[in-house]
Amino acid sequence: MAKKRILILGAGLAGLSAAWHLQKKGFDCQVFEKESAVGGLCRSKKIGGFTFDCDGHLLHFKHHYTFDLVKNLLGSNLVKHQRSAWIYSSGKLSHYPFQANLYGLPKSVIQDCLLGFIQAYNHNYKKTHNRYSFYEWIMRTFGRGIARHFMIPYNTKFWTYSPKELTCEWLDGFIPAPSLKEVINGTIEPNKRQFGYNATFWYPKKGGINQLPLALASQVKNLHANCQISKIDLVKKQISLASGGNEKFDFLISTVPLPEIPGLISDLPKQVEESFKRLKWNSIYNLNLGLKKIDPARRHWVYFPQPELSFFRVGFFHNFSSSLVPAGKNSLYVEVAYSKNKPIDKSRIVAQSIKDLKKMHIIRTQDEVLVQDVNDIKYGYPVYDSNYCLARGKIAKFLMKHSIISCGRYGSWRYMSMEDVLLEGRSVTEEIMGIR
Ligand SMILES: Cc1cc2nc3c(=O)[nH]c(=O)nc-3n(C[C@H](O)[C@H](O)[C@H](O)COP(=O)(O)OP(=O)(O)OC[C@H]3O[C@@H](n4cnc5c(N)ncnc54)[C@H](O)[C@@H]3O)c2cc1C
Repeated sequence: MAKKRILILGAGLAGLSAAWHLQKKGFDCQVFEKESAVGGLCRSKKIGGFTFDCDGHLLHFKHHYTFDLVKNLLGSNLVKHQRSAWIYSSGKLSHYPFQANLYGLPKSVIQDCLLGFIQAYNHNYKKTHNRYSFYEWIMRTFGRGIARHFMIPYNTKFWTYSPKELTCEWLDGFIPAPSLKEVINGTIEPNKRQFGYNATFWYPKKGGINQLPLALASQVKNLHANCQISKIDLVKKQISLASGGNEKFDFLISTVPLPEIPGLISDLPKQVEESFKRLKWNSIYNLNLGLKKIDPARRHWVYFPQPELSFFRVGFFHNFSSSLVPAGKNSLYVEVAYSKNKPIDKSRIVAQSIKDLKKMHIIRTQDEVLVQDVNDIKYGYPVYDSNYCLARGKIAKFLMKHSIISCGRYGSWRYMSMEDVLLEGRSVTEEIMGIR
């Protein structure tokens, strides 16, 4: 069989993993990345002695395969952490997840949450969530109190859409659902059990999360940085580089965010064009700060459900690795969600976030800020609404018909972790081997 020309668009973790797996199986492929550096969302920056990731990026493993892959790549530069995650609500800090750790909250809140949970529990609702909106799932799983005091405000703030507009297709164990006994235990004292997929996480000892894509890239051949793709010609089966020149393909593996595709392919069929228009997403405005003071708390991150606070979460880089900060210093990341549905004023959001950090006593004065860094992440999380499934399916089918395998978090348009996209790189290779 003639040698197939395989091109990969994007050198984030998905594109790098696809290239790595293909090359291990003896396939030649070329990778085109528009930025000057590899890594996509998993890049890190060094500013004034502080290393900042693009928002918080922590590794969680469900599969031995991915753990072994990452361990082989990073060797001893990989450390395991026990999560220290918190929620600030009703004027108190409680352990994550809210629903399993009501202890310490005002008595009226505990009563509300417990009563609601017992009522929902007594209805013995089936937890098969496919038929429900996310809102219904919250009400049926946790009841009115937990919904009101945390789940609804937090998720509305995070998704920037009402949970009534969202489906549950993305859930897949993301939100821990404790038993009645565990909820009751959690009102007496913090639960001993660590809930959820992120109870522990792994993180590089040195260099930030960027070490992972860098290690992967060091084993990948034919990697072209500063190569933006400006056009995909479905008839000629070729891509055009913004800097000039074309490349032919038999298979095109694209990790380019789906909403960017109509700008690359002209004359899309009307129905497919319509599907692209139905995609929704939220964006994340990420502010990173390098700070003077020494933070005695060993917290990793804190959730803030309050609509009046700009951020939904604040995390602390220096507690992932002391190598990310100069000796004795701190650093943190602030996450603000926005979208067409809930815009923000970008000219004021940094000042507002700092004001809110002071209000929450996370920093005391502006003078504590030594350096700052901003990442405006246009595509944060694909929004799973009632159009999501059909629109995504039609797009994927159309692209596949033209030998384009669209993958990665924004190419496949799914709520995917770093582990998920690493695995997808392997499955794309298997797909191509099957097709070949
Ligand atoms: C705010 C936030 C926090 C997250 N935190 C975590 C976490 O803690 N743990 C976790 O496991 N996952 C986390 N994730 C998910 C993780 O970042 C992604 O799953 C993963 O990085 C996606 O990799 P990717 O290669 O699919 O996409 P990307 O990293 O977006 O890579 C796509 C690449 O394509 C390039 N590109 C785009 N257009 C073109 C073009 N026209 N021509 C050439 N190149 C192009 C881009 O420059 C980019 O390098 C988080 C995501 C977000 C948004």
